[in-house]
Amino acid sequence: MIDFERPNMTVQIPVYQPYLRGNEKKYVMDCMDSTWISSKGEYIDRFEAGFSELTGVKHAICVSNGSVALHLALHCLGVGKGDEVLVPSFTYVASVNAILMSGATPVFVESDPENWLMDIADVARKLTPRTKAIMPVHLYGFTCDMEKMAQFAKSNGLKIVEDAAEATGVRVNGHHVGRFADVSTFSFFGNKTLTCGEGGMIITNDDDLAENLRITKNQGMSTTRRYWHDRFGVNYRMTNIQAAIGVAQLEQLETISREKKRVYDRYRRNLVDLPLGWQVQNSDEFQSDYWLVSFLLSDEAMREKVMKHLEENGIETRPVCICAHQLPYLETAGVSFPVAQDIASRGMSVPSYPDLSDEEIDHICAHISASIGGI
Ligand SMILES: *Cc1c(COP(=O)(O)O)cnc(C)c1O
Repeated sequence: MIDFERPNMTVQIPVYQPYLRGNEKKYVMDCMDSTWISSKGEYIDRFEAGFSELTGVKHAICVSNGSVALHLALHCLGVGKGDEVLVPSFTYVASVNAILMSGATPVFVESDPENWLMDIADVARKLTPRTKAIMPVHLYGFTCDMEKMAQFAKSNGLKIVEDAAEATGVRVNGHHVGRFADVSTFSFFGNKTLTCGEGGMIITNDDDLAENLRITKNQGMSTTRRYWHDRFGVNYRMTNIQAAIGVAQLEQLETISREKKRVYDRYRRNLVDLPLGWQVQNSDEFQSDYWLVSFLLSDEAMREKVMKHLEENGIETRPVCICAHQLPYLETAGVSFPVAQDIASRGMSVPSYPDLSDEEIDHICAHISASIGGI
């Protein structure tokens, strides 16, 4: 589908657009008609119940977005000033900012060259007596080896806060992500696999933590006595309107996942003869959500060349994230992560939304080939 109404008029194929072909509009109108537009209502309960069912994790607590989900999770686990949290330098910056907001210190970790994710061997090297938690991040729909990560965390007395913002619908050995962490968080921003416009979810099997999360996200107000606040709190609530969109999206998740797999598979097939680096998952039974189809070019100059060529032809692309340790306010003197920096310098994402047609994918691939100098 070509969207001419985007701000950049030259873009004909965007990197992402949400798939809103189900009951989204109907449920939102229902909120309007019933006047339940704030943070109480039927859709909140349905969205949480549906997400808990999807993931197989006991408690699902919705919040305003994926960034505050991470902060709330850290805060409610007692992570704060004086603590260190291990986080990959190659991640979206929200992971790192959530740690800073909690008062703790982010300690950066190198990435794995195969799956581009947090390198467990380097996690072990970065451990200090102040390390309180590990924050693995599942980027582009691929996952860290969470079983291994959980074993490591357990033997070192650490908590795991899993940033699964890009991993709604991702399964390993038949289980949805979230099984091996103390707490996992998801994002429902407009370009995520499942969207509510803005939104987030926190899941956990821990009853006490779940209660703390629920109370803290609601200004710390007691569930039995109104305006009694026995702890610090915030307003991280989601609205019923957001949840209404979320419920409609959950109903379509199977279709969305199927279409995104079609898109990924077609890119892989079309681009098989080009010298591109792809993420690799070390598990036989792996079902990704193929969040954004992403690959590495031979070097940074080649990436810029390909991105420019595609842009000139109305195809939007994105570079992958810049390493956090190289951002001005996080820069750490003398620190370098060769693998993470290498991925960050030559990785890019191409249009990956569910209703991208086969013809559009073929068209994009032809331009990628032409710009690399292939066939
Ligand atoms: C999107 C994203 C977030 C933040 O989610 P928002 O809903 O945009 O606040 C955090 N971490 C990762 C890895 C993300 O991709």
